[in-house]
This record gives sequence, structure tokens and C-alpha cells, in this order.
Amino acid sequence: MTLPEKVILPLQQNIGAPAAALVKKGDKVKTGDKIGESKSFVSALLHATVSGEVEGIIQVINPASGRLCDAIVIASDGLDTTADFQPVKDVSALTNEEIIAKIKDAGIVGMGGATFPTHVKLVPPKDKIVDTLIMNGCECEPYITSDHRVMLEYGDKVLAGLGLIAKVLSIKNVYLAIEDNKENAIEHLAKLIDEAKYNFQVIPIKTRYPMGAEKTLVKTVINKEVPIGGLPLDVGAVVQNVSTAKAIYDAVYEGKPLIERVVTVTGNIKTPKNLLVRFGTPIKNLIDYCGGTTGGEVIMGGPMMGIAQFDLGFPITKGTNCILVKDALTIKESDCINCGRCVEVCPMGLLPTLYPKYVKKGRYADCKASYVENCVECGACTYSCPANIPIVQYIKIAKKEIIKRKASK
Ligand code: SF4
Ligand code: SF4
Repeated sequence: MTLPEKVILPLQQNIGAPAAALVKKGDKVKTGDKIGESKSFVSALLHATVSGEVEGIIQVINPASGRLCDAIVIASDGLDTTADFQPVKDVSALTNEEIIAKIKDAGIVGMGGATFPTHVKLVPPKDKIVDTLIMNGCECEPYITSDHRVMLEYGDKVLAGLGLIAKVLSIKNVYLAIEDNKENAIEHLAKLIDEAKYNFQVIPIKTRYPMGAEKTLVKTVINKEVPIGGLPLDVGAVVQNVSTAKAIYDAVYEGKPLIERVVTVTGNIKTPKNLLVRFGTPIKNLIDYCGGTTGGEVIMGGPMMGIAQFDLGFPITKGTNCILVKDALTIKESDCINCGRCVEVCPMGLLPTLYPKYVKKGRYADCKASYVENCVECGACTYSCPANIPIVQYIKIAKKEIIKRKASK
């Protein structure tokens, strides 16, 4: 996509600590210059995504959390002058520590939406034995095709990125889990693996939502159940998203920080596309670039887990994989009729019907006792509910309340 005139870069673009600004109004920056950093280990660096002048630091509302956060605004000079990226000639000579340092310096996070800092995932606790790497080639929701596009256009870089992760973690079992509706990606990556003689295995996976959820994927690929409240690490697995693997290649081989990603723009859009977009580009620019909408509400993310946007000036960030425009629905919640559909569809084996009832009565301890924290927020229960109960929204309230109570203790 064409470069925006201005980028807005929230300092909180990862699930850990927010970065602190390293620049101030009037500073000149190049594309790829470091502009935000945190002292916390669980955080990710932030880089300028265009060259130009810092206009200032403003506050924006994070559309995912609803909280205010600081954002650096850079007016582009239109030149896209890059910082001095340092490609590595012989990557095989790098130590594991050097590879992890390059990934950290590039500000890479999980790009499937979780935005967990990748360098942290590459340093597992000493008591955990990791023997399996799973590439998540299952698009997390219907409509989204950005990872599919990345597999087709950057397959060799994705494989090289996975090779680096496997090297750092000394993993021998590398599986590329790809949904079976992406036949060309399965064929393409299998061919590349063969040509480059990687010891990786492509596993076609039945296309069924929410296959992209880490725990579901681990169970499907290696038949191991991630424990309640646990991580794939607890069963010896690491899951990495397709775009994250490609970003690792860019960082280590090319010395390039994470400044852009592929975003699907789809739904009620005149010309739906996958676009390579610089972070900080306002949502409105993407929609205009695709010819505008045919009406409806704008969702950041997919139809099941995405969040409706009230300000199209909000920017694309590291975790944004899709902008979806869909018909706006007015839904009236009614009483639960105990039909059990939400229970049938829950991939985590939970009893979603309980949570709205508990939350309405403030019974958060009962939510916890009913394993609400194990919910992956896939939205399948809400989608299936004939009483139109926004179950996943109640679940989010319960989770936040549990975290708040834990913190106040
Ligand atoms: S959102 Fe609903 S269906 Fe999905 S994991 Fe949570 S409780 Fe289960
Ligand atoms: S699907 Fe809706 S109506 Fe049916 S049991 Fe679940 S919450 Fe109740």
C-alpha cells in the first residue's frame, strides 16, 4: 500500500509492558529508527515506520482494551529514508543469543493477534523441555486471508524463520499446520521444503473454526492437551504464527525491524485486498485504498473475535490482521433457554451458559471455579446462542474482574 502522510504509533503494541518514547516533538527520524523502548523483559521495541518529523505524542484509545495509551505521531517526508539495516552474510555463524538479540531489537511480537513478545517465547523456563515447533498456518477466523498470502508470497522466508526458531530451541519436530482449504499454500510450502531439504513436515488440518487457537492446534497436531491455565510450553510445544516467522527472517537475515505487516481488507468493501501496510496507517486509508465501503460497521479483526471501531483514524498495529466491514446488527438479548448449543460448540469443553448468569450476580469466584480463564474467547458460544446472549462479553468482564481481584490481593 502507498505510504501514509502521517503515522500514529501507539506505545502499547504488545501484551507486556508498554514502551516509553525515545523521541520528542521536532525530532527527525528515519524508517526503522528505534523510537520506543521498555526496561521490562516482557515488552517489545517500537520503530519509526516512515521517515519524517515527530509531530508529538498524543493519547489514543486502544480499541482492544478501551484504555487510553500514548502514541507517537510522525509526519512522513515522503522519502522513506531507511535507517542503516545490517544484513547478515553468514547467519549460520550467529550464536543463539545473537539471534534472540536480533529478534528483540526488531520489536517482533506474535502477529496472529496475541502480540506476545517473541524473544520471550524463545527463552523458555529451564524446567520446561520443548521438543515441538508448530507453525500456525490456520487463519484464526473466517474472512481473513493475510497469512495465506504470506505463505504464498514469502514461503522461503517463512521457512528460514522457522529454521531459526528450531535452531534456537534445539527442536527436531517442526510441523507446518495449514488448513486444508489452502491447497496452494500446502503444495507450495511442501515443494519449498523439499527443494531446500528442511526436515519439516506439512500437516494439512481440517478447516474448522477455531483451529487457529493455540490450544486447539496443539491438541490437533500432537494430540496433547494443554493444561487449564497453562501454555503449549507445558506440553513441550511452541506455536508460531506464519507472519511472525517471516518477521524473524527479516530481522535476522536482513537486519530489518518490524515496521509493516499484511492486512486483509474485506467484507462490504468495493475491492477487497490483502495489503502490505506500515504500522501507524489509519484504518480509513486502507478502506479508501480499496475503493471505500458499501456500508456497515468496521471491525478490527475477524467476524468472531474482532472489535467494532468507532474511530477510523485509529491505526493498524502489530496485531492487526484484518479490517472487516460487515452489516451492523441490532441484537436484543433474551433469557437463556438451556438449549445447550453453547456447550456443544465450545472447543475448550467449558459450560459457557454459566458465565452470564454468574457475572450478572457478581459471582466471579464461581466463574473462576468453572475455568473461565481457560476460555480462548473464540466467540463460538455467542455465535450459536439463539437467545442472543453476548456470552463472550460476559466472559471478558469475568476475566478482567478476576485479574483485578488477584492484583488487589
Ligand atoms: S468463547 Fe465461548 S465457545 Fe469459545 S472458548 Fe470461550 S466459552 Fe468456549
Ligand atoms: S446457547 Fe444460549 S440459550 Fe442455549 S444454553 Fe447457551 S446461553 Fe443458554
